[in-house]
Amino acid sequence: MKKSKAARSQELIAAAQQLYQKNLLAAADGNLSYRHSEQEILITPSGLSKAHLQAEDMAIISPDNHILQGTPSSERLMHLAIYKQTPAKAVVHAHPPHAIALSLARPHWQALPIDSLPEVILAAGSVPIVPYARPGSIEMGEVLTPFLPHCRLMILARHGAVCWGDSLAEATQGIERLEQICQILYLSESLGGARPLPSEEIDALKALRQKIGDRII
Ligand SMILES: [Zn+2]
Repeated sequence: MKKSKAARSQELIAAAQQLYQKNLLAAADGNLSYRHSEQEILITPSGLSKAHLQAEDMAIISPDNHILQGTPSSERLMHLAIYKQTPAKAVVHAHPPHAIALSLARPHWQALPIDSLPEVILAAGSVPIVPYARPGSIEMGEVLTPFLPHCRLMILARHGAVCWGDSLAEATQGIERLEQICQILYLSESLGGARPLPSEEIDALKALRQKIGDRII
């Protein structure tokens, strides 16, 4: 049975609090949304701390960016670009510190170097680092387009990360996974850099990943 808007709003609030508690966003940073129906997308509000959201704070927008209720996040155009180009049910944008730090310190990276991490190859495929776009701008959606619909988990250079999925759990857990990957890579960098797996093992893992599909597990 389809869940009510109120129940979905509570799920978005719980996911936002979980990200806040894990230091994956601070204060009013980040935004979470859910495609409730063809015409209604629930999205967290602009300017309110994720630690104290109430159900009545939740905003509703249409896929063509009409505000139907509340004061939606200023970064909603990024969410709408994803809903337009993918079958996403949920989109989560956060500011994971290690992911942002790597994008600041390694601006030449176009994707995370995950060739040393077998489980990440299986669970996430590749994780691109999307070129910088000014927060809140229409370009935030446009820079994602080359990576859609196949990439679900992406770092936004100098800003944060975004993950979309078939469920709010997939999108939220993708962000958690990303931060842990980046923490491991950060530690490896401080020890001289991660050493990749042998190329034949990487190929075998990529073949397994193709069977799993695009979802983040
Ligand atoms: Zn942001």
